[in-house]
Formats: sequence, C-alpha cells, structure tokens
Amino acid sequence: MTADDRLEIRRSLEEQLEDLASREVSLTAEFCPDENEYASRVYDLHVTVSLRERESRQAARVQAALRRLADPQYGVCRECGEDIGLARLKANPVAEFCVACQAELEARPRAA
Ligand SMILES: [Zn+2]
Repeated sequence: MTADDRLEIRRSLEEQLEDLASREVSLTAEFCPDENEYASRVYDLHVTVSLRERESRQAARVQAALRRLADPQYGVCRECGEDIGLARLKANPVAEFCVACQAELEARPRAA
C-alpha cells in the first residue's frame, strides 16, 4: 500500500464521516389528535431512531478505521493476518477482515 493509497482511503473515510455527520433528522413524533396518524408517526420515529443507531455504529467504524489507517497493521486481516487487498479496502475502507474470513464470519452462527 503506497502513501497515495492511504491518502485516498483517508479521504474516502473522511467523506463518509462528514456525510454521516451531516444527516440531521428530527427525533420527535409531533402530536396529532388522530390516533392512527399519531401511531404511524411514532412508528416512523422508531424507524428513524434505529437508522440513526446504525449510522452512529457506522460512524464509529469509520473513526476506528481512520485510527487504524495510521498503523502499519491497517489492511491486515484480523483473523488470518493476510493482506485484505487494496481493491477491497478502497471499496470498503472499514473492512477488518479479508474476503474469505469475512464470508466465514458471516456464515458462522453468532455467539449469543
Ligand atoms: Zn483473513
């Protein structure tokens, strides 16, 4: 991985972070006398909150990747220690595992 590659990945991570930070949403369900309408607003709010949770988890992953980027270990699979591969990192700079390990992790049943 060259210095230019790192720079490109850093920019892409920073852009992602800016994008995540710029999304402002209203987290209130405005009261409405119509019960069904209000219920649907509350439901929408739940959807928005879980979306925001996913976004903030993603933001945390992006920040962690930015920190790892300064480390020579960035781009090394945490599972097998092989290179994750530049193409994969450019497409998904937060990747912590190589394609093979990622597939294996996803196939593995989650520990409760
Ligand atoms: Zn691996």
